[in-house]
Amino acid sequence: MKKISMMLVTLFLFIVAGFAQQAKYVFYFIGDGMGINQVNGTEMYRGELDHKIGTTPLLFTQFPSMTVATTYAANNGITDSAASGTALATGHKTKYGTIGMLADQKTPTNSIAVWAKKQGARVGISTSVSIDHATPAAFYAHQPDRHMYYEIGNDLMKANFDFYAASDFLLPQGKDGKQPSLYELAQQAGYTIYRGYDEYQKGSNKEKVILFQPEGGANKSIPYAIDRKQGDMSLQEIVKAGIDFFSKDLSKGFFFMVEGGEIDWACHSNDAATVFREVIDMDNAIKEAYEFYQKHPDETLIVVTADHETGGFTLGIKGKSKLNLKALASQKMSEKAFTELINNMRKETGNKVSWEMIQQALKENFGFWDTLTLTDAQETRLKNIYNESFGNKDAILKESEYQKAEPIAAAAKEIISEIAWIGWTTGGHTAGFVPVAAIGAGSELFHHRTDNAEIPRTIAKAAGYIAE
Ligand SMILES: [Zn+2]
Repeated sequence: MKKISMMLVTLFLFIVAGFAQQAKYVFYFIGDGMGINQVNGTEMYRGELDHKIGTTPLLFTQFPSMTVATTYAANNGITDSAASGTALATGHKTKYGTIGMLADQKTPTNSIAVWAKKQGARVGISTSVSIDHATPAAFYAHQPDRHMYYEIGNDLMKANFDFYAASDFLLPQGKDGKQPSLYELAQQAGYTIYRGYDEYQKGSNKEKVILFQPEGGANKSIPYAIDRKQGDMSLQEIVKAGIDFFSKDLSKGFFFMVEGGEIDWACHSNDAATVFREVIDMDNAIKEAYEFYQKHPDETLIVVTADHETGGFTLGIKGKSKLNLKALASQKMSEKAFTELINNMRKETGNKVSWEMIQQALKENFGFWDTLTLTDAQETRLKNIYNESFGNKDAILKESEYQKAEPIAAAAKEIISEIAWIGWTTGGHTAGFVPVAAIGAGSELFHHRTDNAEIPRTIAKAAGYIAE
């Protein structure tokens, strides 16, 4: 008798444990380019702003499970967002530049979003950059080349997911501008396209939704957090809209991928202050998911990770063992926005911008000669670059992966990194570990060191999806 009751207790515990592990509501956050140092640096920057040496933690780094993942591609030790996005989405390593296909670049492979859909869950895919960019595309598209934006846009309709949110389509009518409009095709496929969070909130038809930023925004991305103005869409609003969308009917459960896509862009241009604000911004978006988790703690899983490190970002340079991260608080706009500001100054003055005007702009937006003291060498460098780029000839813009910068903007950004004692080894990606944090149902499965291709399989285990 005693033996039987023990067995029953064991069986009961087994069932309870089994149920406790089912994640009905899954949030999958991907910080593009967000390596270990981008996270640690942001926390130490916040610490310095709180007048201490140490960290003021972000929310997601306090999740009970925290580990690291490797990110290499099938054909390269350093990955790109397409190969890593495909690994994070489908559980298969693939070649550089490939979206949702195996390394043969022919065989399509289904993502965890499709596995979730097959299980009856509703699905949302979102990003702060364009919806056809590599990371979100890996969840719904199958193309051998990440730059096939129009074809990727078409795949979005075919995947037939419930909710998409992003800045926009990158090539709504294809490269030649003559293809059938993706906006019209989306509407024909039953999607309502909302422009901005306010319009989404006012809308009534919410069966299948595409949320893009308000009319007039650059279609490449929503503005960087550091440059955000009133009326601009934020990643936090994207998550809010998604949660609102799914909350209309929670019976089926959901899988919701959210990419902080511009951490990578700011890292490509080695713009440290912009990186920290982007990481903080993604953490704020995660807070929305965390609030949902608090209401449904036994059935919600939040996983936060990154696709790769970008920039070879280091905390400390030149053998000095110094950090002065709080200096970055003096930077008021991204290198990109400062470039636009300088461009406007050129236009307004007929390209007769004085050194004093440049100094004033650097003072207001980088704190130079104000909150931050420059060395003679740094001042000379700026003056020389001014002389070179504001003569009679046109400035040669400094090009990085996603933007072109005025030489004076690029120099200001480099100098503020030096003042903060931050180093960059590359304008590309590196193979460094990326963080993986998890909370909620099944989060204990993320206690061990992992690899990007394992992560969707682990989530599938927690959520009861059948991995393919
Ligand atoms: Zn990148």
